[in-house]
Amino acid sequence: MSAGTDRLREEFEGCFGRLAEIGRDPAGGWTRLAWTEEDRRARAWFEAEAAARGLGVERDRAGNLWAWWPGQGGEDGEPVVAVGSHLDTVRGGGAYDGALGVVSGLLAVGELSRREVEPRRPVAVVAFADEEGGRFGVPTFGSRVLAGALDPAELLARVDQDGTGMGEALAAAGVDPEGFGPDPARIGRLGAFVELHVEQGRGLVDLGRPVALGTGIWPHGRWRLTLAGEANHAGTTRLADRRDPMLGLAAAVLAARAAATELGAVATVGRVVVEPNSANSVPGRASAWLDARAEQDQTLDWLVAAFQGAVEEAAGRNGLAVELACESRSPAVQFDPDLTARVDACLRANGLDPAALPTAAGHDAGSLAAAVPTAMLFVRNPTGTSHSPAETAELDDCLAGVRALAAVIEELACR
Ligand SMILES: [Zn+2]
Repeated sequence: MSAGTDRLREEFEGCFGRLAEIGRDPAGGWTRLAWTEEDRRARAWFEAEAAARGLGVERDRAGNLWAWWPGQGGEDGEPVVAVGSHLDTVRGGGAYDGALGVVSGLLAVGELSRREVEPRRPVAVVAFADEEGGRFGVPTFGSRVLAGALDPAELLARVDQDGTGMGEALAAAGVDPEGFGPDPARIGRLGAFVELHVEQGRGLVDLGRPVALGTGIWPHGRWRLTLAGEANHAGTTRLADRRDPMLGLAAAVLAARAAATELGAVATVGRVVVEPNSANSVPGRASAWLDARAEQDQTLDWLVAAFQGAVEEAAGRNGLAVELACESRSPAVQFDPDLTARVDACLRANGLDPAALPTAAGHDAGSLAAAVPTAMLFVRNPTGTSHSPAETAELDDCLAGVRALAAVIEELACR
């Protein structure tokens, strides 16, 4: 093994390991929710790691961090080449989701600068804010605010599960709610964005390859279902007299699975709130969140329509009032064909034979794809598991990802 590989291995383990200390639950899993103490420490980690590689860090109007190579990135007219991902996690998530892309970006730039490659266009490693939406329910927050895809006033009115407002949380984290909002000039300077991410399924495991190029992101969305019945005594209320929303909820969970199976899509009910949540009461109300994803926008429409039909039928049988509200929806994303072809050729010239994979997971790259030529790289995940402590990647595959990203930055920014 070469000295260069040994050095990169050591550097990766150090850099990734320092981040993995933050928000780690000794019982398993990582929790770094946006604008919390763990998030503050992850941001401090980013600033320190960037500074150690000679990169200057600044924060944009949406709270995202930008590490510039060289120095402060300059204000000249050259289009910016940006790479990066996010540092926040879901509750009890894995160590690699988001983190791998940010670490790989920092190490790739570090490699190029060690080799004394000169950037001809400014390069930025970006750590996007609140990608998971684990606290305020707004995924890909930082990239969508920056791109003008979300209404700042509506966001600032949101509260988390503890009743803390988003405006308050942002201000406490040092993001000025007054200046908070989109930044079209910054988006306009971007010539390309390439996000490296751990794969969140088994595509690469099945293909036996370490790295893939993303082709696109499935359309996906979140819907809140509310079923209202009548709370009553579990012993004295005759079955015939009940209006039990739990029966509607059970039908809803099964309907989501049946519709997804039928349409070759995926659908999940992963969060429910039952009121009063008492063992000896017929519940009065049940709320559930449907997460649904499909290859085509129309298939997703069909899935949600089938779900709604089945739920309304069950509600009718059980005397329930039903409401289904769309909380978020992201259309299908195709990554930029020209940029993807260029990245593909670059990886092949560097001895990698990348697979081509779509994904059903949302990413900051998807938020930027409408405004900026965007591509994605995936690194193999042996368990195929994500949003769980079982999410992982082999060190050799991570190093292949860093080298791939370095080659791509060199191709896009240094020639
Ligand atoms: Zn992610």
